Amino acid sequence: MKYNHLGRSGLQVSELSLGTWLTFGPTLNFAQARECVHFAFDNGINFFDTAEVYSNGVSESILGKTLKDFNRDEVVVSTKIYWGGDKPNQIGLSRKHLIEGTKNSLKRLKMDYVDLLFCHRPDKHTPLEETVLAMDQILRQGLAFYWGTSEWSAEQIEQAFKFAKEYHLIAPTMEQPEYNMLARKRVEKEYVPLYQKHGLGTTIWSPLAAGILTGKYNKGIPQKSRLDRVSWLKKEYESYHLLEQPVFDKIDKLMRLAKELDCSPAQLAIAWCLKNPNVSTVILGASNLDQLKENLKAAEVKERLTDNVMARIEGIIA
Ligand code: NDP
Repeated sequence: MKYNHLGRSGLQVSELSLGTWLTFGPTLNFAQARECVHFAFDNGINFFDTAEVYSNGVSESILGKTLKDFNRDEVVVSTKIYWGGDKPNQIGLSRKHLIEGTKNSLKRLKMDYVDLLFCHRPDKHTPLEETVLAMDQILRQGLAFYWGTSEWSAEQIEQAFKFAKEYHLIAPTMEQPEYNMLARKRVEKEYVPLYQKHGLGTTIWSPLAAGILTGKYNKGIPQKSRLDRVSWLKKEYESYHLLEQPVFDKIDKLMRLAKELDCSPAQLAIAWCLKNPNVSTVILGASNLDQLKENLKAAEVKERLTDNVMARIEGIIA
């Protein structure tokens, strides 16, 4: 396993990491999740991602329990704050919710601190200054070591850097954006000035576009698949026109290329994300151990993605 510095920071994260959204709790019980976490750790993964909103905190509880099997200084743990409940002050990036939400997450994780703490979305109802000050305060209290954003615009992140610099506050270290062959703009274009100017790291999510890039949806929605189980997500992908024939045609071509390279479409899609030097870590999602085993081999497949192969991929997905 290769380890990358998270942006300009001293922290090293495995280039492949393990996420828990829609898996820890809904599809993987504690024993199954523990098996996945052990397999991941034994194969070099050191970074595990969760959020207060995942299965209403159940994901954090399960992840925290599984990670008790390891030394705390051998793993990097992240959680994300924004959606903590239905009440007015359980949501958003106010100082109150950020601090209370973080403390609640730590209780569920049964940890004294998380390594990475993300503002899960931008909050247009809270002044950015309040959020940056609260994150600085959380870090100075030792509840988290690094803070970052998730799905903020480049402009919002730039403002956070500016405010932090002006008031000598701790600036963000990383962003958690969506990145895959079907969602490229933000990581490949919008954030480029931020990598160069601030050394922003990225922990990217949905490398398989929720499974679409495996080709499993090319002939309809398989029973018990993620888009069968989670109807709002299916609607969202439909609204992005990602469950339509032109996309399936591209995926068919990618599947043929994967066969030529002697790998699976999932491995090809994940390896492609790993090729981007601005990606610090690719967060894998796996609904079972077999998927995790398959996806972890993407690190080996990366070596097969020569310039020529990358150009062929570009020809398909551009
Ligand atoms: P993916 O795009 O990789 O989707 C994972 C899903 O795809 C699996 O649960 C499974 O679904 C299917 N799948 C995975 N591997 C295979 C395979 N080899 N063959 C067939 N199907 C496969 O990643 P996620 O969307 O799960 O995102 C990864 C992580 O990123 C999350 O767990 C979370 O930690 C984080 N995240 C962060 C977000 C944010 O806003 N910051 C948003 C979303 C995710 P199925 O049940 O159909 O088999």
